Amino acid sequence: MTIEQTQPAAENTPRWIEGVLIETKIIDTDDGARTLTEPAAIKIENGTFTEIRFGASAPSDAHTRMDADGMLMLPSLRDTHVHLDKTFYGGPWRAPIPGRHWLAEEERLLPEMSENIPIRSNAILDLLISNGTTEVVAHCNVDHVIGTRNVERLLQVVRSRDDVDTAVVAYPQHGLQGGKIKPLLADALRAGASVIGGLDPGSRERDVDRTLDTIFDLAVEYDVGVDLHLHDPGTLGLFELDRVIDYTLQAGRQGRVSLSNANALANADAPTVRAMAERLAENRIGIGTTIGVGGSVIPISALSAAGVEVSLGSDSITDILTPFGQGDILEQVWMLAQRFGWSDERRLAQALLYGAGEPARWSADGRRAWPAVGDAADFLLVRASCTAEAVARRADRCHVFHRGRQVCGPTTETR
Ligand SMILES: [Zn+2]
Repeated sequence: MTIEQTQPAAENTPRWIEGVLIETKIIDTDDGARTLTEPAAIKIENGTFTEIRFGASAPSDAHTRMDADGMLMLPSLRDTHVHLDKTFYGGPWRAPIPGRHWLAEEERLLPEMSENIPIRSNAILDLLISNGTTEVVAHCNVDHVIGTRNVERLLQVVRSRDDVDTAVVAYPQHGLQGGKIKPLLADALRAGASVIGGLDPGSRERDVDRTLDTIFDLAVEYDVGVDLHLHDPGTLGLFELDRVIDYTLQAGRQGRVSLSNANALANADAPTVRAMAERLAENRIGIGTTIGVGGSVIPISALSAAGVEVSLGSDSITDILTPFGQGDILEQVWMLAQRFGWSDERRLAQALLYGAGEPARWSADGRRAWPAVGDAADFLLVRASCTAEAVARRADRCHVFHRGRQVCGPTTETR
């Protein structure tokens, strides 16, 4: 990419990106589906797209112009489940130790990991951004070992950065401990965590309703969202899901509740999934999942078809549990497409929805509404001819933009 500019640009100076490829439609041909693109010039002002000229260049008097050299524009990615506060990433290499009880190991290491938050959480955020993510949901421990220290330290980090939007979840990884942790969670929400978390109300907390009472009480009192880790399989997990939906309804929290994992759906039969998906969609409860090699996977197509918003998260990146997290949501999309055998043009293109959210949605007639004037200018420039290729080939994210500003890439804007 080359940047030309006649004089230094102020933060809110309109800028044009020209020579960018924008997808317009997926069509059927005798040779299968094909994605059509058009070159365009796009104007960015105050963090949003304000003009799109198809088949044209930027106006000759444009103050700042960037030549994208035929790169494809994609919506930027979001990571809806990652732990930034207890990672080895950004520090010396350390592999998990087999045979050790991981929660006891975490208790032992928490003080040390907490000290490292400023360096390591920034390192992970840099990694996520370099892979095209500009929106993050970070679950952060609140527990009997470190109290609210991790939340306070992580909030300091995320507030210092304007290249990524990060929501911090107050997450009781070691349980509510009979109510002992509730005041700490309240402190974390007062400090600025914007979501209340929770963990396996059946197997871990051993009292589903008392756990959900506590969590939804806090959500209502502090007017925050809810994001629960649900790992329990089988009928216990399905019961927990049902109760979370009941509580969402009773507390009037529709549209503000998410589930991380929801593993019980992975092995449920089709009628059960359908019924649960309808209730989840009715109450606008989303699910964030992580795709790995092997293991079961939730029925994403059925959930999505029923209207449940499904998203992807990195979860662990090089920590006590796993050394394998790459912090790359496009890789998660790529794995998802492989797990479900989505190898044709349309389904590869549609797969990006799970990594980038609504901007990546294709309509039933093969059109995409993004980018449009008024949309936030959060986008990537990649070397690919279309989304399907970008997903299948895990295209390099050459340039990453957040609110109209380049936050990663070899050429930064000069001012
Ligand atoms: Zn997690």
